[in-house]
Amino acid sequence: MAAAKLTSGSISPNALKATMLDGKQKPLMFEIISECRTTKARTGKMTLVHHQVDTPVFMPVGTQGTLKGLLPQQLEKLNCQIILGNTYHLGTRPGAEILRKAGGLHKFMNWKRALLTDSGGFQMVSLLHLAEITEEGVQFKSPYDGSECMLTPEHSIEIQNAIGADIVMQLDDVVKSTLTGPRVEEAMQRTTRWLDRCLAAHKRPNEQSIFPIVQGGLNDELRMTSVKLQSQREVNGFAVGGLSGGESKDDFWRMVHLSTNVLPKNKPRYLMGVGFAVDLVVCCALGIDMYDCVFPTRTARFGCALVRTGQLNLRQKIYQHDQKPIDESCECTTCKTYTRSYLHHIVTVETVACHLLSVHNIYFQMKLMNDIRTSINTQTFPEFVKEYMLNLYPDENYPTWILNALNEVNIHLKP
Ligand SMILES: [Zn+2]
Repeated sequence: MAAAKLTSGSISPNALKATMLDGKQKPLMFEIISECRTTKARTGKMTLVHHQVDTPVFMPVGTQGTLKGLLPQQLEKLNCQIILGNTYHLGTRPGAEILRKAGGLHKFMNWKRALLTDSGGFQMVSLLHLAEITEEGVQFKSPYDGSECMLTPEHSIEIQNAIGADIVMQLDDVVKSTLTGPRVEEAMQRTTRWLDRCLAAHKRPNEQSIFPIVQGGLNDELRMTSVKLQSQREVNGFAVGGLSGGESKDDFWRMVHLSTNVLPKNKPRYLMGVGFAVDLVVCCALGIDMYDCVFPTRTARFGCALVRTGQLNLRQKIYQHDQKPIDESCECTTCKTYTRSYLHHIVTVETVACHLLSVHNIYFQMKLMNDIRTSINTQTFPEFVKEYMLNLYPDENYPTWILNALNEVNIHLKP
């Protein structure tokens, strides 16, 4: 496996002790290590019950209590400090009862580091077309036997308490990111009412932190109101939701920028569902600390390898005789061992190809985040961003949204 030369935030045996404050256990402590003098980027240490996490951090997504194509030990070697589990999938199978008996998902899947679970609501609304939202919760027909089920804020927290992740998400009222009109405000207000129900139902507040989700669509005023309402509650961190769902890139970064301008500075900020490398670089400049996305592992399954200049689609015939590794500068075990030619030969045919590409793609994400953190810590983040963008757009044909977003935080790619 990749001998991770990256700095590791692994102090897991002491993490528990470190979260003791005034004799009371705190499930999350966040300390800002360094702030960029030009942009809103910052590095931090987030101490959770199971692990200490260096931020900004990318969290790979493990859908069924496993990351497709990778074992927990391999994730550790790849320097993953925190991964995400889907409550909807875990709640239906194996189900809360089995997870409770197993002593939580950590023990069930043999993952010792930090975990975050989503609320299950997003999956439900996006996967089940029959889902209907009422004040009570999300009503849906079971995909297994067609029976009527209801996911309430209380039920979501009950399942997440059984899973036992370090960070759990409130159930929110999800609307399409491009939706406008009164439904957006209704969803935003309901999300805060559901947050209060989640907090009231929380049975393990000493071990798990519930993150509220900022909603409000693409409307400035509603976003601001949502931030204000959500930050009046006693919570340890915040998520920015309802983005990365087909809205324009300019709308996307503006909502992120607006949210980080108003969210409390001393708490971690998690941007949900974002994982394209270029988005990570821009959103770090806008002050986001945590990200998750299925993209790096999903694209691996389709035969695509991530590189700093974009992606290589290894199914393409041009790689048939290519004896180079995916990336000559990459230190992952796949790049150290296999050629593009070999990967082309097995890609999308053999499951081992999915495994080899997942190793590379996760390594790529971890290395990117490590480079971002190092540059923030050494006050060279603006230079890092400029170099990164020039690599990606060698003809300096930068998309307008990137120019606009970076201009807002004092990085000018063009004079
Ligand atoms: Zn590699």
